[in-house]
Amino acid sequence: MRRTFTCIVCPNGCEITADYEERGGAVDVTAVSGNLCPRGKEYVAQELTDPRRTIASSVKVESGEFPLASVRLTAPIPKNRIFDAMEEIKKCSVKAPVKSGTVLIHDILGLGSDLIITKDVEAVI
Ligand code: SF4
Repeated sequence: MRRTFTCIVCPNGCEITADYEERGGAVDVTAVSGNLCPRGKEYVAQELTDPRRTIASSVKVESGEFPLASVRLTAPIPKNRIFDAMEEIKKCSVKAPVKSGTVLIHDILGLGSDLIITKDVEAVI
């Protein structure tokens, strides 16, 4: 089988054409072209077997200099759990001051990724 992917590992966004075979639930990537580095083949193999994505979003801040603080996951999670994770993130709010790097949700949905704040927000006095 042949499929084309856009690698999202780095900003180059290589268009990769991959030939692969499926055997008994396993996927064997036999050839790739269009990738500028070996990570492209790893990305394709991951996409075919266990596609993952990360999330960058924001949460409400009470009494802060800004109404929102940016957040992100520390590791990609299975693509089919993105909406579930977004629902968990929507439930979050924090009280200022908040510091970048603070863990808001440890091990979100048991998926091995933390939700962390990525922006300092000072309190409004
Ligand atoms: S194949 Fe390599 S260079 Fe191309 S987008 Fe992926 S990581 Fe970047």
